[in-house]
Amino acid sequence: MRDLGLSMLLSIYVFAFLPSLYAEPAGQHEVHCSRERSRTAWSVIDEYLLPFVEKKQYSLPEACRLNPKNDMFREQEQKKEHVTAHQWQCPYCRKMFRSEKFLDQHFDNRHLNLLNYSRDRCLADVCGALHCDYYEKLAKSKHKKKKCNTLASEKHLHLCQSLARTCFPPEQSASSRQLNEFFLRQFCDAHDCKKGVLPFNRGNGRYGDQALYIALFIFVCLILFLFYLGVYAYQSDLNKNHVKLKRISKPKVH
Ligand SMILES: [Zn+2]
Repeated sequence: MRDLGLSMLLSIYVFAFLPSLYAEPAGQHEVHCSRERSRTAWSVIDEYLLPFVEKKQYSLPEACRLNPKNDMFREQEQKKEHVTAHQWQCPYCRKMFRSEKFLDQHFDNRHLNLLNYSRDRCLADVCGALHCDYYEKLAKSKHKKKKCNTLASEKHLHLCQSLARTCFPPEQSASSRQLNEFFLRQFCDAHDCKKGVLPFNRGNGRYGDQALYIALFIFVCLILFLFYLGVYAYQSDLNKNHVKLKRISKPKVH
């Protein structure tokens, strides 16, 4: 009986106090979200979605996972200071680093407590739907068309369509309906193996207009160059004829 009492006491002790030995220290929070992938997802949103959203003067709902407030790294990423090509500065303790990677490590080691956990949302989780891998290869100009994986594509398509619904509810307004349609074409269509289309087929919103202006400028310069070349050729031709006429009309001396 005494043994039974002792073992019960021991069990109570184990169940009551053991978890505290393995609990995280106060103020620490384990992060299961990739900063680098979240950054890639944000770059995709920033280049291929936000310019179109801004044009419509539309505000992403808070429930939308693409809303910057749902990216736990956004605040730290915005505060990063890129001083020179090989100098990155921590905005909290002013320490300098020679690459962004080292500053990222420093954030994770020293300032993890400053991350915004309030929503516990990881932007990297929507990377599949946003074509992060394709975007990274595109940036390195290494993209080669690969065979479509039907199972993975179906999963990504499902997430993509759910993002379209929560971020741009079609019944909300005309802008929301148009952006919903845009989002499906820009991101979700490329997850359908049968359609065989590439992601971001509605173009890059950040640099699209800029590229158009550069092309227009080159075209105008070319037209002007051809025009002045024509004028110059016409003038030289005119001068040659004038000299010939002068020679012809020269009076003969007897
Ligand atoms: Zn620091």
